[in-house]
Amino acid sequence: MTSISLNSVGKQFGSLVAVKSVDALIDEGEFISIVGPSGCGKTTTLRVIAGLEEASSGEVLFGDNEVTDDPPEKRNVGMVFQNLALYPHMSVRDNMEFGLRVDGVPDNECGSRVTKVAKMLDIEELLDRSPAELSGGQQQRVAIGRTMVLDPDVFLLDEPLASLDAKLRVEIREELQELHRQVGVTTVYVTHDQEQAMTMSDRIIVMNDGEIQQFATPDEVYNHPNNEFVAHFIGTPSMNFIDCELARKGDTLYADLGFDSVKIDENQAARSLANGDSVRLGVRPEHVDLCHDNEEGFTTNVKFVEPTGKDKIVHLNVGDEDLKAIVEGEENVVGDETRRMAFRSDCIHLFETESGECVY
Ligand code: ATP
Repeated sequence: MTSISLNSVGKQFGSLVAVKSVDALIDEGEFISIVGPSGCGKTTTLRVIAGLEEASSGEVLFGDNEVTDDPPEKRNVGMVFQNLALYPHMSVRDNMEFGLRVDGVPDNECGSRVTKVAKMLDIEELLDRSPAELSGGQQQRVAIGRTMVLDPDVFLLDEPLASLDAKLRVEIREELQELHRQVGVTTVYVTHDQEQAMTMSDRIIVMNDGEIQQFATPDEVYNHPNNEFVAHFIGTPSMNFIDCELARKGDTLYADLGFDSVKIDENQAARSLANGDSVRLGVRPEHVDLCHDNEEGFTTNVKFVEPTGKDKIVHLNVGDEDLKAIVEGEENVVGDETRRMAFRSDCIHLFETESGECVY
């Protein structure tokens, strides 16, 4: 088990900059996910950690050891990729023992290590089958097991759950979490699926365009996004954004939305805010409330309602803005009606229009 430091790590393919000077310190035993849109550099970052790609700049350290120029076999990393690449002509047992044999581990130790990991992953019954005789989820477990027997210092996973159906994905996700609890090996997991990342990780790296946008706990990236990109990328349905201008009335600063204004507590601002500043107000759908009785709010048109079972996603229109609200399933709200809504004042964010940086 080891910590991983990325110091100003960059990676170019010809003129294409895939990763731009990334800095990150992943603690020993942490479970980290890297999320971000397609092509943002997640896999490249993982491959640089693994030694499968050479960094174009910067350095990679495992603990205090610089490994930037070390080939993969000198790094003691375990890797599971979406394309599982089990050897089809070998039994599960032989697949799992293969790496140990290459490393020259004696027969009896190979056997006992495979048995131990197979027990952990609940695949003992499958050891004499061939990969073709396994379900997708079982193949997944074998691929993970094959890596675990090598007792890696670092475990790297690249979308290993992507090919599975939704139910199996949740099962394997829970197993991976349990495995991480048991073994505690430093793990970096690349995924498109932010929900998966939120539930599994100690911390999340949100990437865009080859750069880290935020590296923080799931709670932090959700509730305190660094910028508009993170705010928009994390959370389903996405945060609502409304362009607005700050306006001072007397001693109080308001965000003027056109259809309503929201009071801004200047003590909570990350920098000084001024009358006339252009910002984008962000509010998550679950922080848009339907008003009842005499509660104050602005008037909206309910366009349509999507029930999800537990909740309802309410699609609203107010002025030029389309917004979404999430309300409880039992709330009585239907399409084509006029309702009053309010934003929870302690749950709004302001982003600088130009830079997207969070200022409140
Ligand atoms: P996805 O989610 O689609 O897998 P990603 O975030 O993992 O994407 P990368 O695979 O790291 O993205 O790719 C980052 C950029 O680098 C992309 O523009 C990609 O086309 C480019 N790239 C990746 N590998 C190579 C390569 N071997 N040669 C040239 N360009 C590459």
